[in-house]
Amino acid sequence: MLWQPALPDRYTKMTDPELVDAIRARRAELGDDLVILGHHYQQDDVIQFADFDGDSFKLSQLAAERVEETGAKYVIFLGVHFMAESADILTPEQTIVILPDLGAGCSMADMANYTETVEAWEEITDRGTKPSSDQGKESDRRSLDGSMARSLDPSVRVIPICYMNSSAAIKAFCGKHGGAVCTSSNCERVFEWALAGGTQPRGENEEIKILFLPDQHLGRNTAASMGYDVATQMCVWDPKSPDGFGGLDRDDVERSTFILWKGHCSVHKLFRPEHVDEIRAMWPDVTVMVHPECDHDVVLKADMTGSTEGIKKAIETAKPGSRWAIGTEVHMVNRLANAAKERGVTVRMLSDCQCLCTTMYRIDMPHLLYVMDNLAEGKVVNQIKVDDEVKKWSLEALDRMLELTGTGVVASVTVAQDKAQPV
Ligand code: SF4
Repeated sequence: MLWQPALPDRYTKMTDPELVDAIRARRAELGDDLVILGHHYQQDDVIQFADFDGDSFKLSQLAAERVEETGAKYVIFLGVHFMAESADILTPEQTIVILPDLGAGCSMADMANYTETVEAWEEITDRGTKPSSDQGKESDRRSLDGSMARSLDPSVRVIPICYMNSSAAIKAFCGKHGGAVCTSSNCERVFEWALAGGTQPRGENEEIKILFLPDQHLGRNTAASMGYDVATQMCVWDPKSPDGFGGLDRDDVERSTFILWKGHCSVHKLFRPEHVDEIRAMWPDVTVMVHPECDHDVVLKADMTGSTEGIKKAIETAKPGSRWAIGTEVHMVNRLANAAKERGVTVRMLSDCQCLCTTMYRIDMPHLLYVMDNLAEGKVVNQIKVDDEVKKWSLEALDRMLELTGTGVVASVTVAQDKAQPV
């Protein structure tokens, strides 16, 4: 996480109406030079100033289009750090991308750092010497001096895939090693591509494995929906394991098609299967829809899973009189609930827990005004700039996704097999 210096006092002393007026004035002053992007999970106080709202990848694409149309010089991202990086990657070189509070990171993205990823890759893909037939499970474990008793079978190829919610460095790593980026909307399509060989056709006797990072839950939920067995065809790589080798044995890696990085979203992790039971007891006719970053046990109990765009679409097209419980960030759910009420659709959070993205919540009106004041005075503060080499390889990984999916932002919804879609 980057360090955000404290704001000058005058920003913290302003009242909300003063802040609104000042931001509106700066917005008018900066005109077409500026594009403001607001993520679905952002608080109402600042989303009201966004030119576009959406998920992270859609917003970056819209910013790139807007820059093309209007020649905008600045993009302010009301989101978190990796989102601003994606906007910098996708917009032209001269575009300046700004994050109003540098402390707005993403706890999930931070769970996969570059060094640990390189170490994991080297250990998993270690081609060393072939195993001897009598090596037992104990000897497979990486010893404290870092030596590995067994190495990856030559017929196995590992392809790294990362979620959009990862740092630019991780996206670049995937691009450089024949992998791709995915969103929660197109994860299955990207997995299919990788399992078919990815950038090169799969050899006749070749076995493909996917190293997926950083969200174990999106990886597990997607692979399970494709028919892979959670217990036997997936394993979880823990980069912090004191035992080394991700806390796994080579056998775990050998049996698994999916090696899932031990990362999670601190917001979606708060939803529990019991919340689904509670809401069904209260509203027997409820439709439960959750984001695929939720725990697999929650997804199994839900009626539907969907990306943020998928959830939005489902609620916007829901039948009047229907009742919904949604498992995703609270600001998005509240906005959907308010709009749906007018159509006679009832929407509530799946749980009463405070499921808000606390890092995104750091972006507030004082910070927004602070960066806009500086822009109006010809100064750039809080710029997010991705290194050229990292940008090149990140784009490679993003382009592979785009070639597969067209836009990458198609709203995705999965309906539990035994439940009819109630929209
Ligand atoms: S909701 Fe979760 S994945 Fe999304 S930005 Fe917040 S911490 Fe990261």
